Amino acid sequence: MTNSSFSPIHIIGGGLAGSEAAWQVAEAGVPVILHEMRGVRGTDAHKTDGLAELVCSNSFRSDDATSNAVGVIHAEMRLAGSLIMACADKHQVPAGGALAVDRDGFSDAVTAAIHQHPLITVVREEVTGLPPEDWDLAIIATGPLTSPALAEAIRERTGKDALAFFDAIAPIVHTDSINMDICWYQSRYDKVGPGGTGKDYINCPLDEAQYNAFVNALIEGDAVGFKEWEGTPYFDGCLPIEVMAERGRETLRHGPMKPMGLTNAHNPTVKAYAVVQLRQDNALGTLYNMVGFQTKLKYGAQAEIFRMIPGLENAEFARLGGLHRNTYIHSPTLLDQSLQLKARPGLRFAGQITGCEGYVESASIGLLAGRFAAAQRKGETISVPPATTALGALLNHITGGHIVSDEEPGKRSFQPMNINFGLFPELEPGSIVKPEGIKRFRGKDKTIMKRQLIAARALEHCKTWLGAA
Ligand SMILES: Cc1cc2nc3c(=O)[nH]c(=O)nc-3n(C[C@H](O)[C@H](O)[C@H](O)COP(=O)(O)OP(=O)(O)OC[C@H]3O[C@@H](n4cnc5c(N)ncnc54)[C@H](O)[C@@H]3O)c2cc1C
Repeated sequence: MTNSSFSPIHIIGGGLAGSEAAWQVAEAGVPVILHEMRGVRGTDAHKTDGLAELVCSNSFRSDDATSNAVGVIHAEMRLAGSLIMACADKHQVPAGGALAVDRDGFSDAVTAAIHQHPLITVVREEVTGLPPEDWDLAIIATGPLTSPALAEAIRERTGKDALAFFDAIAPIVHTDSINMDICWYQSRYDKVGPGGTGKDYINCPLDEAQYNAFVNALIEGDAVGFKEWEGTPYFDGCLPIEVMAERGRETLRHGPMKPMGLTNAHNPTVKAYAVVQLRQDNALGTLYNMVGFQTKLKYGAQAEIFRMIPGLENAEFARLGGLHRNTYIHSPTLLDQSLQLKARPGLRFAGQITGCEGYVESASIGLLAGRFAAAQRKGETISVPPATTALGALLNHITGGHIVSDEEPGKRSFQPMNINFGLFPELEPGSIVKPEGIKRFRGKDKTIMKRQLIAARALEHCKTWLGAA
């Protein structure tokens, strides 16, 4: 296998994250043993034995690095020598502004590159327990469909509440797109609680007619079915809102939309018939999630229906809701900044199992885990990307940026996240300046400029981080 004097790093899972991690480790001159079970045991979604198989869409989403957060992470990964991006670029198919790939060509290219690398050995086997102690440096990148035996071993080690088998995602909204002329800040009954202020939620009021129209829209909305193997993962307190709406016209008003203990700051004498609450989702305060609004509605229907809520008429969604089979750990409490399990240094997690979501995001966390593990093996200082980069913003969200809610049982407030501009720190005050010669500089123009500036800053800081500036 190797001409390297370093002992190998073990990587479990040869999907998007594990393949990228293996590449990064090997390119740093450290040998890798990559354990992939397909070929011996399949999953419910994969169809081939190829590494980095795309289980559904063939799109890596927007490739616009000037004003789209996904495009920015593409660009940063390319700068960092990503195998996944190199193979995607090579097998691109026409898709407008998106980067879409020929899925077989892409997976074949990743598989060939991994097999041909002199420092990588691929072992086709299911790893059924946590890595043995003599695998001193290891990365678990087994994805949303981690095999049951390994998932159980992780659960035993991390605790029951720290490993989820389904996500139940409520939509997340960019704070600056919420209309605060209609909404107001208040916690129910002004409760301060531990670490609160009494004004921790954003509240959106509905009158009776608005509530009824909203419930009708939910019932008529187009929902997506569960796949046969996903089962119907409804558990207490996590019913999709459209299912709650179907159970009775008043159900939502007595559940997530109850108006009790809330007084409309703009109109204190009129009691709202129902209230939608949004809770701060990240430490930066740039994102708020819609409390109790997990849903199986199709994305198009969600945006249309949720914009019926007063105050959310122009809402920009950082991510829409969903409910899927998905194995992921409670990273904000379990992992340190270099993706290491605090309870077992040397063991890292990467990919979707860390609570990121999407092909590119999973690969990017694999890229980081690989670089961190290789640096550790070589006795080098681990260099974490700054939070102003897309890689750093996503890493930061997973390992601490998300606010952990004590109120929710089972630590369910941490839900998988895509890269989006809400995860980046704000620009320096005064950065957004009206360009000369433009008469009207509206909110939309400011948002576009803000995104362009955040994107440019990210790429500049990423180059500096990589020593490529
Ligand atoms: C049904 C479904 C559809 C999805 N569709 C999309 C989509 O359209 N677009 C998108 O961006 N994202 C999608 N995702 C989300 C996610 O981005 C992908 O699942 C992505 O592949 C995650 O990358 P990963 O490397 O973390 O996991 P994976 O790519 O799933 O790789 C994990 C690997 O680990 C292996 N493995 C599991 N357990 C073991 C074990 N015990 N021992 C050894 N090997 C093991 C698996 O065989 C697999 O090869 C989807 C997810 C699912 C489940």
